[in-house]
Amino acid sequence: MRIVILGPPGAGKGTQATTLARRLNIPQLSTGNMLRAAVDAQSPLGQSVSAVMQSGGLVSDDLMIECVHERIARADARKGFILDGFPRTLAQARALDNILDAQQASLDAAVELRVDVDQLLARIEGRADQARASGEQVRSDDNAQALKRRLMEYEDSTAPLSEYYANQNRLVRIDGMREVEEVTCAIFGAVGIAT
Ligand code: AMP
Repeated sequence: MRIVILGPPGAGKGTQATTLARRLNIPQLSTGNMLRAAVDAQSPLGQSVSAVMQSGGLVSDDLMIECVHERIARADARKGFILDGFPRTLAQARALDNILDAQQASLDAAVELRVDVDQLLARIEGRADQARASGEQVRSDDNAQALKRRLMEYEDSTAPLSEYYANQNRLVRIDGMREVEEVTCAIFGAVGIAT
């Protein structure tokens, strides 16, 4: 199965993508995680994206499309994947369709997690507190200022993807405000996976 997960920052994309990927035994491709690993490794890619990520802005389409193209071409992604954090722009969505077309493949679903934007700051602060408490690194963009920019980028660049996928009859809208397990169940049901 090939699924993309859409939703604003803090909607739970990563959590749901991890569960789906485990259940289906296919890789979770998280562009945010890929970029954070590059930043931690201080690779050329990491150095070029670090500042824009920290500010909550979007990395360029060209870079992101190249990263995802390369990752999707690997053998483990041939039978399917869960994409989390990509696409974030119409250009990325179109590029993904072209990459899949070339493999004679297509997306099975675009799952949009719908959340109450007013509660996102509290969620993001909770995520930072949890990371701190368990001794993990706190994301450098999990703060009020970067969140504001990330939300703006979501509204401007990513929200239009709902219509793009609705026009392809691939959009599945899920209420992301419920308990994590309930959201997982709703996604499984909507994409036809037995729980
Ligand atoms: P995420 O972990 O998905 O919230 O991504 C963290 C940050 O990585 C974003 O705020 C962007 O700066 C960058 N990023 C991740 N995925 C993309 C993408 N598909 N396009 C542009 N920037 C991205």
